[in-house]
Amino acid sequence: GPRQVRGAVFTWVRPELQKDPELLAVSPRAMRDLGLALSEAETDEFKQTVVGNKLQGWDSENLKGPGYPWAQCYGGFQFGDWAGQLGDGRAISLFEATNPKTHVRYEVQLKGAGLTPYSRFADGKAVLRSSIREFIVSEALNALGIPSTRALAISLLPHSRVRRETTEPGAIVVRFAQSWLRFGNFDILRARGERALIRQLATYVAESVFGGWENLPARLDDPEDPAAAVTSPARGVPKDECQGPEGAEENRFARLYREIVRRNAVTVAKWQAYGFMNGVLNTDNTSIFGLSIDFGPFAFMDNFDPSYTPNHDDHFLRYSYRNQPSIIWWNLVRLGEALGELIGAGAEVDTENFVQNGLKDDKEAEPLIARAEKLITQAGDEYKAVFLGEYKQLMAARLGLKQHKESDFEDLFSSLLDTMEALELDFNLFFRKLSSLKVSDIATEDQRKEKAAIFFYKDQAASNAADAQGEDDRQRVAEWLGRWRQRIVEDWGTLENWGQSTDGVDGDAHGSSPVSDAAEEERMAAMKAVNPKFTPRGWILDEIIRRVEKEGERDVLKRAIHLATH
Ligand code: AMP
Ligand code: MG
Ligand code: MG
Repeated sequence: GPRQVRGAVFTWVRPELQKDPELLAVSPRAMRDLGLALSEAETDEFKQTVVGNKLQGWDSENLKGPGYPWAQCYGGFQFGDWAGQLGDGRAISLFEATNPKTHVRYEVQLKGAGLTPYSRFADGKAVLRSSIREFIVSEALNALGIPSTRALAISLLPHSRVRRETTEPGAIVVRFAQSWLRFGNFDILRARGERALIRQLATYVAESVFGGWENLPARLDDPEDPAAAVTSPARGVPKDECQGPEGAEENRFARLYREIVRRNAVTVAKWQAYGFMNGVLNTDNTSIFGLSIDFGPFAFMDNFDPSYTPNHDDHFLRYSYRNQPSIIWWNLVRLGEALGELIGAGAEVDTENFVQNGLKDDKEAEPLIARAEKLITQAGDEYKAVFLGEYKQLMAARLGLKQHKESDFEDLFSSLLDTMEALELDFNLFFRKLSSLKVSDIATEDQRKEKAAIFFYKDQAASNAADAQGEDDRQRVAEWLGRWRQRIVEDWGTLENWGQSTDGVDGDAHGSSPVSDAAEEERMAAMKAVNPKFTPRGWILDEIIRRVEKEGERDVLKRAIHLATH
């Protein structure tokens, strides 16, 4: 049953022993990123380690070593309401491992390995279905350049029957991340008033997770041009400046907060640019490291629909596509409140009294929290700026533009999204199809109208061909294609290729294309690199699950992880 774990951020816990586990698939890319040779996945040691039967670095005879597993204590705001202690109810971390080549350190963790003190009324298990979904989507997101927790391997537990709506086979995904900390880790300490632990955990995050205070953004109140700090990475302040001058508004904990703000702004911008929805963006599912984390009813957008949510219980559309940026900000405000005294304390944060005892009571904390509120509001502007900067850059790249112009937002991005929504076009396929269009294919209005047909579904196209509505729809896409073409010519065209035209009409009206063949090749390759052919949509995942579960296929998983990571 539920048990409150106080005064701690984790609990040591042993995974259950698993009989006859079957390793279903590994992610070769994950093996590489952990510094493992692919052949290691064939060994019995690997197969026993990825289900928790063998503990790396733990001497079970003498009960010694660094490698004893643990589960985290965290809480969370679920659908806006404080839910109390949650914690790793079915996740158990095994060890930390550093890739010797990249020097990146990861925390390796099992999902579905049995009960922990945080399992509450549930069983600590994971079904094969959700495990396959997590295995594929984490690797797909990472391959798209979207920060995500990773999946190394998935194993089937042939003797385990997990009771959900029906009885289903159990599975374990072994996964890894540079940090598994969530906002909820701070929420729970705040709710309990465990002030010393908040400071300790925040210090751990800065020093151990982000690799040192010097890696955090520069102070906003310090640079000559504060706006520059908002729009540029502004990292790498000299070590001796990290604590800020005496009486400074912004101490190093405030900069830590801003690092977390910035990371999450980037990640949610990427979700928006790729139409990815987490589905349950509670604070326990929002990462300190800015990772996509905790995959429940996630989805990639099919037809563009900003009010879509993949979560059937989300009646108020709290976690719909359109709301993701504001919800992540809502979560970040909760985090700012949890860190409130620390970030609002200014230089005082390092005085003896503060360090040793924290603050005596809430009364003493009041002025600090008032100051923290200002800093949080300021961080909100930074969040918006970083989000928009990243989003525009990604959308520009997906559209094949070399650089983003202010007018693109209205003329290209918004008008495209409105068109997609109105005409029920597939979001990710649109970009992929656009990647193959040549400027010379759409030089005239007639050509644009003809090419517009490729963006419609087959059955849409068939009925559209017949009626006036279809004509209007194609016309709308054709108009957008005209604007897009102009921008491509602007970014990729060369003067010589503009022919003899002096009348403002494109050179190709005079027989030559305004963009050279070589430039077109380069642009199309760049577009294809950011516009994947394969998107792990719900119905594709369903088919993979069915084939693994019902038909006993194994190869389909390997092919899916290959597609997802290339
Ligand atoms: P989630 O909805 O995935 O964010 O999970 C919310 C909380 O429920 C977390 O503390 C999970 O660890 C816990 N939880 C979810 N499923 C299980 C399960 N089958 N066994 C134990 N804990 C679970
Ligand atoms: Mg969760
Ligand atoms: Mg979950």
